[in-house]
Amino acid sequence: MEKPKIAIVGGGVAGSTAGLYLSQLGLDITLFEQGESLVSGPPFCHLHAGGNLYREISDEQCITLLQQSIDLLRYYPYAIDYRPTVIAIPTDDGGKPEDLYNRLHKLRNEYQLLIDKDPLNRVLGDSSDYFRLYSKDDIERLKQKEIIKNPKSLDDWLIPVAHDVDLEKIQFPLIMVQEYGLNLFRLGGGVTYLLNQRDNARVLFNTKVTDIKPKNNRESCILEYEQDGEKKRSKFDYLINATGFRTGTIDDILGFKRDRLVEFKSAYVTKWENSDILYPEIVFYGERGTPRGMAQFTPYPNGYFQIHGMTPSITLFDKGLVKNSTNSSQPLLEPKFIKKIEHKWEENEV
Ligand SMILES: Cc1cc2nc3c(=O)[nH]c(=O)nc-3n(C[C@H](O)[C@H](O)[C@H](O)COP(=O)(O)OP(=O)(O)OC[C@H]3O[C@@H](n4cnc5c(N)ncnc54)[C@H](O)[C@@H]3O)c2cc1C
Repeated sequence: MEKPKIAIVGGGVAGSTAGLYLSQLGLDITLFEQGESLVSGPPFCHLHAGGNLYREISDEQCITLLQQSIDLLRYYPYAIDYRPTVIAIPTDDGGKPEDLYNRLHKLRNEYQLLIDKDPLNRVLGDSSDYFRLYSKDDIERLKQKEIIKNPKSLDDWLIPVAHDVDLEKIQFPLIMVQEYGLNLFRLGGGVTYLLNQRDNARVLFNTKVTDIKPKNNRESCILEYEQDGEKKRSKFDYLINATGFRTGTIDDILGFKRDRLVEFKSAYVTKWENSDILYPEIVFYGERGTPRGMAQFTPYPNGYFQIHGMTPSITLFDKGLVKNSTNSSQPLLEPKFIKKIEHKWEENEV
């Protein structure tokens, strides 16, 4: 019997992972990507293994993020930067560290249950170390120590934080959680390499899916696409829509009605001259959307750092959050945002 043919539209992390997994099962997949490479859309840098960056979300969402992150880490161990995350609450913030304890205990218990179910889930270290609290005395003690070039223990990771963060402006205890860095370059490189090895997987770059026929057919479909300026068509048994923030355009082609939200966000990347120190990720809580919104400091190699600020001047944008209309499943971002996504930022905006 012929293997079913699966078309995956979109080669971001979702489509690439679907392609990798289904081809691993021996299925015949074709991945359509309009760009020149895989996983080269919006960035990501943080493995949300517990959702601790966002105190606004529910405990259930945090547990789902923990489970999904463990799955992702097991599938892509080479894409992880193994460094913890430190959560600091500024003294002028309305929240208290104690407000988070209940959720942290729930997450730690949930992690232990996942390990009990399958010992291979133990990818975030011992569950007893899932989170750790550091008092002001602990941090003052670490401040006396020299920064360690290759941090091994959780304490080692905190030494640069003790040196560089203004300890008068944050509340104690500081909270350290096992949420790691996620390296999209290694993930994209790994997926591309593995898919290239498989005879039952084809990746078509510079190939945009433009139409799907017939509509609402549950048996099979013909994809029309443009590859390097040439129009082509192929028949498939199954279709996976993984077109990221453009998912609604494929829904519209097929006549499916969906409710969707799209949010335009950005981050700054900057270089800290002469910094060869390895920092953990540091998150300063704050009220999203206000000038003192949450700030996320993410270290990259060689002195580069990324700054997210859930403030209107850094990460969030006026009219950056849009929903679809009754006529279309695709939320429409203003052209100025699309221009930034498809081309680049103007020199004077950077
Ligand atoms: C500033 C910023 C920071 C972020 N940080 C994090 C983070 O730290 N951790 C985290 O987990 N997430 C983070 N995210 C979210 C994360 O980037 C997205 O959730 C993720 O990249 C979505 O992946 P995707 O595969 O669904 O979509 P995409 O990566 O957008 O992939 C969709 C692909 O489909 C292709 N495509 C679209 N239409 C067609 C067509 N018709 N034919 C062919 N190809 C098509 C596109 O070219 C694209 O490559 C961040 C997002 C932003 C904007």
